[in-house]
Amino acid sequence: MRPARDRIVVPVAELRRRPGNRMVLERDVPIGDLATSSAAVPSGVSATLTATLESLSDGVTVVGRIHVPWEGSCRRCLDPCVGELDVDFSEVFSDHPDGGDLLAFSGDAVDLTDAVREAVVLGLPLAPLCREDCAGPEPSAFPVAVESEGAVATRDPRWAALDALRFDPEADDG
Ligand SMILES: [Zn+2]
Repeated sequence: MRPARDRIVVPVAELRRRPGNRMVLERDVPIGDLATSSAAVPSGVSATLTATLESLSDGVTVVGRIHVPWEGSCRRCLDPCVGELDVDFSEVFSDHPDGGDLLAFSGDAVDLTDAVREAVVLGLPLAPLCREDCAGPEPSAFPVAVESEGAVATRDPRWAALDALRFDPEADDG
C-alpha cells in the first residue's frame, strides 16, 4: 500500500446523491517511480489528471486521461531521450464489486491510484526514439542481420512442423 498522501482519492458522496450527476476533475497527481525496462516517469514529477465522473444508481463511472513526462534511452543511439505521454483509462466503481471490472468504493470516495499507475505503465514507450529520424550509431559498430528472400526459402526445415499448427479460438486450457 502506498502512503496515503501519494494516493489519488476523489470524494464522491456529493456526486452520488443523484444518478446522472456528473463531475469534471482536473488536478495534478503524484506519480513518481514508475518504470519499465525502456522508459520511466522521472521521480518527483506530477501528472495532470483530467477525468469525468458520472453517478449511476449503484456506482460511479470514471473516464480519465493522464498527461505525464517520461524519460528513457533511444532504441537506436542509446542517448537519453524524453517525451510526454497522454493515456486514457476508464473504471467503474460499484456497490457490488465483483473482484474484476467492478471496483469497490473506498468509503465515500473512489481511489484512482491503481488505474492511473497501470495506464501510465502501459503507455510508456516500449522503444523510445530521441527523434523520429535518429540514424543510430555508425552501422559498422552494430552489424545487423539483413533479411532477404533467400532466407525464407532456406529456412530450417524443422520449422515446417509449425506450419501444421492452427490457432483454435475455442481451445481453452485455463
Ligand atoms: Zn537516437
